[in-house]
Amino acid sequence: MKRLTNVLLAALMAIAAWAAGNDTYTVIVSCDGLRWDYAECYDMPFFDRLAREGVKAVMQPSFPTKTFPNHYTLATGLYPDHHGIIANSFRLGDSGKIYSLSNNETRSNGKYYGGDPIWLTAKRQGVKTATVYWVGSDVKIQGEHPNYWQDYQKKPLLTFDQRVDEVINLLSMPQDKRPRLVMCYFEEPDHSGHSYGPNSMKTRRAAQNIDSLLWSMWARIKALPEIGNKVNLIITGDHGMAWLSQQRKVVARDYIKEEWGAKILGDSPALIYVDNKQYVDSIVNALQGVDHIRVWRKGELPEYLHYGTNPNMGDVVVMPDLGWLFTNSKRVIAGTHGWDNTASDMQVGFRAIGPDFKVGYVREGTFRNVCIYPLLAHLLGVTPSPCDGTLQEVGDMLKVAPPQF
Ligand code: AMP
Ligand code: ZN
Ligand code: ZN
Repeated sequence: MKRLTNVLLAALMAIAAWAAGNDTYTVIVSCDGLRWDYAECYDMPFFDRLAREGVKAVMQPSFPTKTFPNHYTLATGLYPDHHGIIANSFRLGDSGKIYSLSNNETRSNGKYYGGDPIWLTAKRQGVKTATVYWVGSDVKIQGEHPNYWQDYQKKPLLTFDQRVDEVINLLSMPQDKRPRLVMCYFEEPDHSGHSYGPNSMKTRRAAQNIDSLLWSMWARIKALPEIGNKVNLIITGDHGMAWLSQQRKVVARDYIKEEWGAKILGDSPALIYVDNKQYVDSIVNALQGVDHIRVWRKGELPEYLHYGTNPNMGDVVVMPDLGWLFTNSKRVIAGTHGWDNTASDMQVGFRAIGPDFKVGYVREGTFRNVCIYPLLAHLLGVTPSPCDGTLQEVGDMLKVAPPQF
């Protein structure tokens, strides 16, 4: 009789665990501008260890390979064209207003952020979520924030060490308050990549600093009582980095006449807005055939870019070759990003480790960053909203193959 009761009890507990979903925790770290090959070129022992003890892969960003579009793609699983943050700067309809990361009024208006970010998908299904700076999470989207979040407008920003402390604090909360998803953002190695170029001593140093910072974070996670062995860690970024040069510039005003009234936002790519639509043809004709750029009317971009249908899109999109800018500016910094998302230099590093990931698995080829959202939903045991990515594309990284759907 006692044995039967024990068996019944065990069965009930298994059903309860199944009903509650996965009981693991997920920490996803975004290192801005983490080009896929930094860990190949630079001495990054923690990244090497993650390749041995977890999963190593290369992730393809979405177009345009800029910070805001891609962080919000990681959060929603939607291409920028579909979630609405189509560039770091873009015009809002015909209002003349500009959305940009430095314009607090538009940047912090939730109505421009489409789709369901994972922190809302999970929160609505009873899973607590936290961000330590993540594009969109300090904006009220559909009236909500994650359960815990940091305001990027509040200065001074937390130092990198304080962000790691915050991740550990969040995971050390009592069980009923503890978030099961923590998303954390670092500005490096992007800042150094812009200032000194992707292959420079200072960018190498920035990447190596991130490597040791994350090693110490992982050591502290593993030492957490109760949950140390239940945490999945994903380390990735938003895009790569490429060299610029003073010589590799297509000067916009050499081709676009002032009287056409074109407003140009961005330089790699550039979105061109024209109030008087009769000048769209003039601009396209003037730019067609110019060396080192490709030019399209909105709605006519190649399918693989998944770009050009959003109502806030420029009338004309100009994409310079990798390493080239379309600009009127005299000043050229050492490096940037934004170009074709299939270019090798734009690809992103990826590592994952934890109870749900395979050990020592080096993945062939690339996967699209729209698949991070369904992956996170799967790890948290929540149902994802419709998106552009699939779990199947990344399911091979998991110890237990996900069910087909
Ligand atoms: P990019 O020009 O694409 O390299 O943009 C990178 C910049 O985005 C970084 O320098 C950050 O300071 C900024 N950034 C990152 N996250 C946020 C945020 N949540 N709110 C405002 N700015 C941010
Ligand atoms: Zn970035
Ligand atoms: Zn950048």
